Amino acid sequence: MEPERKRHRTRRRLRRSDPGQKTDFKLVLELNAMHPFTNLTHLKRVRACRSKDSPHALEILICLVKDATSPLNNDFSNAALGEPFVVKIPSRPPLTRPQFELASKHWPTSFHEDKLVSTALRGELFNAKQKAKMQEYMMLAVDAAKEGKKLGLKAIGAVIVDPNSDKIIAKSHDCSQNHPLQHAVMVCIDLVAQSQGGGCYSYEKYTSCQFNFVDLNNGASQPYICTGYDLYVTKEPCVLCAMALVHSRIGRVFYGTDSEDGAMGTKFKIHAQKDLNHRFEVFKGVLVGLCKELDKEERDGVDTKDSAICVL
Ligand SMILES: [Zn+2]
Repeated sequence: MEPERKRHRTRRRLRRSDPGQKTDFKLVLELNAMHPFTNLTHLKRVRACRSKDSPHALEILICLVKDATSPLNNDFSNAALGEPFVVKIPSRPPLTRPQFELASKHWPTSFHEDKLVSTALRGELFNAKQKAKMQEYMMLAVDAAKEGKKLGLKAIGAVIVDPNSDKIIAKSHDCSQNHPLQHAVMVCIDLVAQSQGGGCYSYEKYTSCQFNFVDLNNGASQPYICTGYDLYVTKEPCVLCAMALVHSRIGRVFYGTDSEDGAMGTKFKIHAQKDLNHRFEVFKGVLVGLCKELDKEERDGVDTKDSAICVL
């Protein structure tokens, strides 16, 4: 498995100039006031000049290219500076040493290793027993997907479990032929709500969509929908499902294979959006072979349905 928290280096371009013998500290203060790097605090503003032929000792980031209407305007004394030029910068802070080394090739950054990500990338985040459990849960989701497929539905299955008790809380497959909102994940969340006395829909005709009541006799309080629970789903959730997972406070998500419309690893990374009031960890690749097979069969099935027979 690989975590979905790996960073991207989008290529933004900046102008540079060399302060030479100018009072560098004052220059940085001026620039910070004029062009603060609010979301780029990992960047060092100044670096040693890389060109040995340059008459200047230092290079300094002035602003993002998109903000450069008149970077060296009257508010900013540029008398001692060299010619500005554009440089690519790492748009996000590096989380691992290889990312840091790669980022530093473009521009110096601060570095605070994310040990969780580093451990995950080494394949050491989960032990063998935990991995076996994950595969067991994903197998239930695969079986649910197959049950849905037998009914002519999309072959996508989901399971929500309580990792503390190893209890299966809900199991579902896609029911979107019944209702456009009933994606496998949406159904699973609804079934969890039903296990707590809520929920919106009836799945009587879909016998594989089930839930187990949460036993609260031991004094435990009822969680808010999916708080602390894990979701296993054969295919990467879409935006609709990802937002439902945010709202239901899911603990972690494990998915099998990518989706073109996926809203976690493929696009948006909704689970990691700072503007949302809940974030969670996402891992992909559990039983990826089986999940890809399901998806391929699903695509083949869709292609067949969409094709037409013509006669002349
Ligand atoms: Zn969905």
